[in-house]
Amino acid sequence: ALPVLAVIGRPNVGKSTLVNRILGRREAVVEDKPGVTRDRVSYPAEWSGTHFTLVDTGGWEVDVAGIESKVAEQAEVAVSLADAVVFVVDAQVGATASDERVVEMLRRSGKPVILCANKVDGPAGEADASYLWALGLGEPRPVSALHGRGTGDLLDAVVAAL
Ligand code: GDP
Ligand code: MG
Repeated sequence: ALPVLAVIGRPNVGKSTLVNRILGRREAVVEDKPGVTRDRVSYPAEWSGTHFTLVDTGGWEVDVAGIESKVAEQAEVAVSLADAVVFVVDAQVGATASDERVVEMLRRSGKPVILCANKVDGPAGEADASYLWALGLGEPRPVSALHGRGTGDLLDAVVAAL
C-alpha cells in the first residue's frame, strides 16, 4: 500500500487549498466559511517520484460556547491512519490554543510532522511563520497554498519523512 499523508489543521487555515496545490488540480472543496465538517477524503498524489495517498480532513469544530466538541477527533483518527502528517497553521493568525492542544496529540502519536505555515503570500509574511517555531514541531515551512509559494520545499520535507 502507498504511504499515507494526512493534512490536518483548524477550519479555514487552507488545508483543501494546499491539497489542490499538491494535486495540481481543483478537487478538494475550498470553503470561504469555516466550520463545514466533511469526512476525510483521499487522493492519489506524487512528488519527486514518490507516490502517496493524500488525505484532506475537515478540521475540528468549536461549538457555540466556544468549547471544542470532540476536540480534534477527526484529526486524531486521520493521524492514527497516517505515516506522516502536515499540520497546517494560518501564519497570519498565529497558533491558537486549539492548535497547541493538537500539538500534544501529535507528539503522543509519534508520527513525523511537517509544520506548514500557510498564508505566507509574500516575503513580509516570513516573520509570521517564524513565530511558529514556538510550537516545538521543528522548522515551520512558509507556504502560500493559494499562490504556490514554498510548496516545493514543503513537499521535499514530506517525501523525506514518508
Ligand atoms: P480549510 O478549511 O483548511 O480546508 O481551508 P480552505 O482551503 O477551504 O481555505 C479557506 C480560505 O483560506 C479560502 O478562502 C482560501 O482561498 C484561503 N486560503 C487558503 N490558502 C491561502 C493562502 O495561502 N493565502 C491566502 N491569502 N489565503 C488562503
Ligand atoms: Mg477543507
